[in-house]
Amino acid sequence: MSKTALVTGAAGFIGSHLVERLAQRGYRVLAVDNFDSYYPRAMKEANLRSAMASGSVAFAEVDVRDYTRLRALFQKTPADVVVHLAARPGVRPSFETPHVYMDINVRGTLNMLMACREFNVPKMLFASSSSVYGSVEAPAYEERTPCRPLSPYGASKVAGEALCSAAAGEMSVMALRFFTVYGPRQRPDMAIANFSKRITAGEPVTLYGDGSSSRDYTYISDTITGIVSALEADLPGYNVFNLGRGMPLHLRDLVRLIELGLDVPADVRFEPDQPGDPQTTCADITRARTMLGYKPTVAPQEGVIRYTEWLQESQREFAASR
Ligand code: NAD
Repeated sequence: MSKTALVTGAAGFIGSHLVERLAQRGYRVLAVDNFDSYYPRAMKEANLRSAMASGSVAFAEVDVRDYTRLRALFQKTPADVVVHLAARPGVRPSFETPHVYMDINVRGTLNMLMACREFNVPKMLFASSSSVYGSVEAPAYEERTPCRPLSPYGASKVAGEALCSAAAGEMSVMALRFFTVYGPRQRPDMAIANFSKRITAGEPVTLYGDGSSSRDYTYISDTITGIVSALEADLPGYNVFNLGRGMPLHLRDLVRLIELGLDVPADVRFEPDQPGDPQTTCADITRARTMLGYKPTVAPQEGVIRYTEWLQESQREFAASR
């Protein structure tokens, strides 16, 4: 009999891809989202439409902060596994509204853990982030590297992880630390989506710092494969995994790849570094490779081209539909 996966944040970038993959693998999926106002609802509805076309998927519009609604959901649909991706993302905006980040990311996570315990769900996966680490001197972050977040967003993920650790026992709980995920349907506030849109429109692109900062960009299909491997691994207790690529790319090289993909030159401007941004992020993925068989395969040289091709195709479809 097929298993049921409850996925929160299912209308988002990573969530919609996960729902699609799980449905293709024969899971019954209960997709949960509240269409949070961080970016337009229409984009999330479009994500969800693609995901729901892929198989046995039901959707519930529920806020993870609403425990009464969550209880009703868990009562109606017993889940074999919960993947909790719902969150308010974004490092820089978290300085403006830290209380919102704590409310959604911490209280929401506590609610999900409580619901799993109350309804005997054997396993929960939590979307954590490279932002838990802060600025690390070592060449790559290992999971045992101390967490010293630089932003309220990073702090909210550290708190979420602490709650996961406290809840694990009978229930298996995993915190998956994602590293700058990109690909089709990427959140509009993230660098690749934002730069691509501005370059296409002939608008200047702002790089903070001197362009030498680097990020461990991870293509969406690799992240999704990592999540599914974690979901299907038989690991008791509490486990933490880095899901990155382990090969950071400089910001200025990222812009060159986008220029290449779009075949349009960028008008680059430089601004001082922003608070909360570390100089580099780089995952040590030894643990995920050894324990989950995780092996990212898409290099930015290929992934960015796939992204720009998808973007240009969706822009053509949008223009044709008007
Ligand atoms: P996203 O914003 O596209 O997706 C998050 C989804 O959660 C959205 O659809 C939103 O409507 C939903 N949501 C927000 N608040 C909710 C609430 N109270 N109740 C129910 N649903 C709610 O973001 P994403 O990039 O897909 O990120 C997914 C997860 O991965 C998040 O937890 C994020 O913090 C984490 N993460 C993402 C990245 C990345 O590079 N994209 C990196 C590290 C961690």
